[in-house]
Amino acid sequence: MRPMCTTCGTQWDERPQPPDHCPICSDDRQYVAPTGQRWTTHEELATTHRVRIERDGDLLGIGITPAFAIPQRALVLATDIGNVLWDCTSLVTPEAVDALAAIGGIDVIAISHPHFYSAMVEWSDALGGSRIMLHADDAVWIQRTSPAIELWHGDEHSLSPTLHLYRCAGHFPGSCLLHWTGAPNGRHVILAGDTLHVTADRRHVTFMYSVPNYVPAHPDHVKRTRARLADLPIDDIYGFTWGLNVIGDGRAALDASIDRYLAAVGH
Ligand SMILES: [Zn+2]
Ligand SMILES: [Zn+2]
Repeated sequence: MRPMCTTCGTQWDERPQPPDHCPICSDDRQYVAPTGQRWTTHEELATTHRVRIERDGDLLGIGITPAFAIPQRALVLATDIGNVLWDCTSLVTPEAVDALAAIGGIDVIAISHPHFYSAMVEWSDALGGSRIMLHADDAVWIQRTSPAIELWHGDEHSLSPTLHLYRCAGHFPGSCLLHWTGAPNGRHVILAGDTLHVTADRRHVTFMYSVPNYVPAHPDHVKRTRARLADLPIDDIYGFTWGLNVIGDGRAALDASIDRYLAAVGH
């Protein structure tokens, strides 16, 4: 079997039995459900859930319905190096693979941090071996291995002239975001995952070591993020799930959010 944790949605390598605990959910950034550690498999999940494919802002979103685990939605980006899947989910179905094949398939899967590693290898295999780009600083969290996984190092990595990954630590050491200058309608966007956490008002972001346990990120990380992203043009910031996006004036929203955050934590 390949066990899948029902709280974080992470799929494991083939093994005879599930592990006794999920290291991702036992970590202080996550939590074990009140009912205790539970496991499913991809096959079992496919009998009760479907892939949700819908527009979110200007982009095509991929999620799961009914909601499962965290529940993030991934985004499909039509870029100058082919289609990129930003972040990932736990369920792949033949219908979803067909829908993606109809728009040219997925060349690269790039993931912000370990909470969204989910069923990345299941997706890559189903899509014919899409490359999976992960930050090397979080490699310890990879639970299902594959030759498709490529680790990148350092603070910045260019996938193409329009697509740049930036490491912005605070949530995980290798937490990253993707800046894309070729989004539809001439827009410059940040795909943030949980690296910048878009807040409920959809006009700000915040910076969390743990989202569910409400532990703020260290201000030194936030200051480094401010420096790293200082010169980027930003129209929109896409958060980790459906509709949680800052649409318009993203640059001003990020600057105001950093000022507000640093003031709140006493800097
Ligand atoms: Zn888990
Ligand atoms: Zn997370």
